[in-house]
Amino acid sequence: MLLEISELSVFYGKIQALDKISLGVEEGEIACLIGANGAGKSTTLKTISGLRKVAHGSLRFKGEDITYVPGHQRVTMGICQAPEGRGIFPGMTVMDNLGMGAYTRKKREAEKIAADFDRVFALFPRLKERQKQIAGTMSGGEQQMLAIGRALMSSPDLLLLDEPSMGLAPKLVAQIFEIIQEINGQGTTVLLVEQNAIKALSVSQRAYVLETGRITRSAPAEDLLGDDSIRAAYLGG
Ligand code: ATP
Repeated sequence: MLLEISELSVFYGKIQALDKISLGVEEGEIACLIGANGAGKSTTLKTISGLRKVAHGSLRFKGEDITYVPGHQRVTMGICQAPEGRGIFPGMTVMDNLGMGAYTRKKREAEKIAADFDRVFALFPRLKERQKQIAGTMSGGEQQMLAIGRALMSSPDLLLLDEPSMGLAPKLVAQIFEIIQEINGQGTTVLLVEQNAIKALSVSQRAYVLETGRITRSAPAEDLLGDDSIRAAYLGG
């Protein structure tokens, strides 16, 4: 397992957001976490990134216990989250935003960093065209691409995506999911959080259902796609 979460509990003050959740992500796969509003999906990703404190349980990455490893160090270890709601730097250019994604990397990696710029521009030709544009003036879809591109610039082994399809027109949603599969095909493991359960399940190998802070199902994604109770609850019947 690349990532193993055991019995993880997380609180916001007295509110328990996650209640002893356990899940695993295998190297090379796309895994997804689906669930209703407020189920704890974003909290799970934030805890994996190191942005939320763990009250109980543990996280292991590449076999190492990272439960108390600070977030910036997790980036260096190979975990990177593309922010929900396009958390890019709106006043900076596209190029500078991408450069910020590589800030934890050493100068001696210059060649590898240049190759990662090429990788991002090949995945998102639009970003290449818009290198000098101020990020905040781009469309929602372009900003979403930039958020993913910036995360890729840290050269992650595990890419965490929080609602990458949020607010996008259907054509762009399809394109983003194709790109996620392409990124995965290049060797990056992906953990995806989505309200768009059909899309998420159709690109994933493994899926977890989160309900009010608890994992209630864990199965191959295609099993959940064909499951009547899941279809009724999350796929619109
Ligand atoms: P959504 O898709 O609506 O973002 P989610 O599944 O990602 O939902 P979380 O955002 O992880 O859910 O929220 C899980 C629970 O934690 C919810 O009950 C939410 O109200 C609570 N919560 C989240 N952030 C905070 C916060 N900063 N302070 C207090 N409670 C919070």
